Order: sequence, then C-alpha cells, then structure tokens
Amino acid sequence: MRPGLQSKLIRSFLSLLFLFLLIQTCFVYLLKCSFLLSSMLGVVFVIPLFFLVSRRFIKPILDLTRRTMELASGHQGVETHVYPDDELGDLSKAIVEMSLQLRDQIGEVSREKEYQQAILGGMAEGVLLVDGRGRVLLVNEALQRLLSISSRVTGKTTLEIIRSAELEEAIQDALHEGVNRTFEITLPPSGEKTFQVNIAGIPSSSNEPNPEMKGVIAVFHDITRLKDLERVRQDFAANVSHELRTPLTTIKGYAETLLEGALKDEVAFQFVQVIKRHADRLAQIVEDLLTLSKIESKGFQLKMETIPVYELIGDCIDFLKESAQKKMISISRNEVLPSLAVYGDRHFLEQVLINLLDNAVKYTSEDGKVEILVTEKENKEILFLIKDDGIGIPKEELHRIFERFYRVDKGRSKDLGGTGLGLSIVKHIIQAHHGRIWAESQPGKGSSFYFTLPHDADAQEKGFKDHQNNP
Ligand code: ADP
Repeated sequence: MRPGLQSKLIRSFLSLLFLFLLIQTCFVYLLKCSFLLSSMLGVVFVIPLFFLVSRRFIKPILDLTRRTMELASGHQGVETHVYPDDELGDLSKAIVEMSLQLRDQIGEVSREKEYQQAILGGMAEGVLLVDGRGRVLLVNEALQRLLSISSRVTGKTTLEIIRSAELEEAIQDALHEGVNRTFEITLPPSGEKTFQVNIAGIPSSSNEPNPEMKGVIAVFHDITRLKDLERVRQDFAANVSHELRTPLTTIKGYAETLLEGALKDEVAFQFVQVIKRHADRLAQIVEDLLTLSKIESKGFQLKMETIPVYELIGDCIDFLKESAQKKMISISRNEVLPSLAVYGDRHFLEQVLINLLDNAVKYTSEDGKVEILVTEKENKEILFLIKDDGIGIPKEELHRIFERFYRVDKGRSKDLGGTGLGLSIVKHIIQAHHGRIWAESQPGKGSSFYFTLPHDADAQEKGFKDHQNNP
C-alpha cells in the first residue's frame, strides 16, 4: 500500500515528538537541568525542524494552487511539477491532465473557428447571422462586398445595416414564429442587385415548446445576372416575333391586295417591289439569327489561321468602298507592319470588321470620316479601333448595344436595313477569339469601337487551337 498524505503527516508529527522527548530527557538526565528549562530547550531545537517539515507539505499545495489559478485564467502553457506518489501527486497529475485536455479542446475550438471562417470567407453567397434579439452577430465577406457593408456591424440591428423592411419582417417572423422563408429582394431598394434570400431560424437547444429562436441565419444568393439573362431571353423571344411579324404582315397585305385584283393595276409592280424588300429583310434577319445560333451552338469551330492585319483590313475596306463613296465618307487606316498578324478565322473576322465599318458608315452623315487604327499592345494583344464622327450613342444606352435586337433609334436602323443583331454577332465572334470588345461614344461627336485579338505568335504559343464550344 502506498503511504498516504495523512500517514506521512502522523509519522512526521511522531518523529518531532520523539525528538522533543529525546532532547528533553538528555537535558534532564545528562546536564541535570530543570524540567522547565529542558522543555524550553527541546522546543527551541524542534521548532526549526517543525517549520522545515511543514514546508515540505505546504509548498506543493501553494504551488498547485498557483498553477490551478493560472489555468483558470486561460494560461495554456502551464507546466506542473508532478509530486511524489501521494494525494498531492494525484492532484498534480490531475492538473497536468486537465491542462493537456484544455489545450486540446482550445486547439480544436480554434481550428473549428478557422475552418468556419475559411468556409464563410470562401462562400460566394452572402451570410448574415443575427441573435435572438435581432442583433447582428456576423456578416461574411461576400455580403460585405455585395452590399458595401462595413465589417464592424456586430451588435447593430439588421435595419441599420440593410435598409429593407421586407428583410427585417422576414427575420422577425423567423425569430418569433419560427417561419422559414425564401424570397427575392432588390437591394439596395434603389434596385441595383437582385438576391434570392433564404431565411431560417436557429432553434434554441431546450426542448420547451417555445417557438422563439436562438437566432436567424440569412443566406443571400446574387441572382442579378440570372435575372438579366432571363430578361434578355424574354426580350429576345418577344423581339424575334416582333421583327418577323412586321415584314410578314406587309408581305401578306400586299400579296392579298394583288390577289384581290390589283395584279393588273399599274401599282402591281411597286407592290411586288415592296414584297421583295420585306422578303429580303426577313431573309437577312433569319440569316443573322442562324449565324448567332451557329456561333453559340455546341461544337462550333473556328478555322484558325495566321492572317496579316493589313490584308484583313484592306479586304474589308474594299468591300465597303462603294457605300462609303455614295455618302462621300472617307475611310482611312494607319500604317501597320506587314509582319503584324492575328491568329483567327478569316471569314468571321471579316464579318466583325465589315459589321463595324458598315455601322460606322451607316450612322455617319455625308462627308464624314471613318478611321481604322491598329496598335500592337505590350501584353501581346492587337488593339483595333474603328472610329467615326457620326451621330454617336447616348451614354445610358451604350452598355446595351451588344444585346440582340437592341437599337438606339429603331426607325433609323430599320430604314438603313439594320437587323439589330450585328453587334451581338460581333461580340460573340470576338469572345470566341479570346478577345474583348467595348465602345465609347459621345452623341453628336461620334463613336469608337475597340476590340482586341491575340497576337498571332502569342496565340500559337498559348496553343489557341481551333476554337470549339464545349460539346
Ligand atoms: P443594326 O443592324 O441596327 O445596325 P447593330 O447590332 O449593328 O444593329 O447595332 C445596334 C445599334 O447600335 C444600332 O441600331 C445603332 O443604334 C447603334 N450603333 C451601332 N454602331 C453605331 C455607330 N457607329 N454609331 C452610332 N450608333 C451605332
């Protein structure tokens, strides 16, 4: 059996008592001292020994008390001396064990917190967490970015950081009535972004039949792009029907008039001419739609080749020379090195340049000026600029001109034979060539259309093989 603390104390006490009696006896019998004097001398000898012995028991207790208090105050690196094999030894071992477990648990909690932060930080969706009083506990980085919210919002009400009565109402319903909801909302209410918001209450851990929640989590999915695409798709369906219906109605009307007897009239020839013009327009729309669907179709492939820039531009200018001359519009170009070449599909790149030049000529009044400027950029791109001094495009419409059927002046475009699909086709072709396209314009002063194409050598180096949409 191991010696316990209590038996050690009794042994030490008995040893001291024995020592005291021994000293006292020695003084009484050997030195013939009085009993009182020998007792006093015995006490004088034994007291320092008593302090020494008591220190042996009290010191470890003081030491363990200090280290336990350090642990309680959150100090993790507590080193505890392990005492001999008695109750104090057990206590010191328990403290060491406790400190190790505490260190593990704290490590685990901080690891979990790091994972949580990494997940919340890496999410594309915005996350808002509120407590049972409707106060903000957490707003992740995505939501801060999406709604330009500051990171210091803890403790504020949701209304203070996101001014939406609808959102606030949904959060309160989830908190007090346990109603989870999914809805669409435009934020800020001025209407810049559309979100799909999922609101869910966090139930309190008690099993009481209490509908009150411990908090609420709101997840914001940015569906602005989806909504835009949906709008473009709806507009497209409506536009196609409208675009096709107008010439068809005219053709039908004139054909019926001819059938009803006008065939023999003098106007018959004019009627047939109108029918022909509208049939041509129909054919042009169908042609453009087919080109668009071809470029967008799975498996669409460009036939890539090295094309000298001066050759590409020269061919396109030749193609438009006649229509430009009719309006006395000059088309000029800057000098480019004969070695400057792009890597692309000749047929489609000609279509891009012809479309942009045709627009420049169409939307520029007589005696106007159209320029083509080509520059080689440091980042191994070739920048093309088609610039005119025509009617220009209002700033608020500029971002929409690449949409299908979008026309700034519908009447004028139709009169000039436009289908409203040209720029949309151009954009798709440039993107298929890994390029970018954009426009700048000032109404009344003219427009500039920019697009980039990879330099021939760079494209080959990067291995731009024949472009193919993912099948
Ligand atoms: P369209 O067949 O009507 O020309 P596009 O898609 O080529 O269709 O162009 C879309 C619209 O952009 C045109 O209807 C016109 O309003 C505007 N636009 C395009 N290019 C120019 C330009 N160079 N100057 C002014 N407006 C232009």
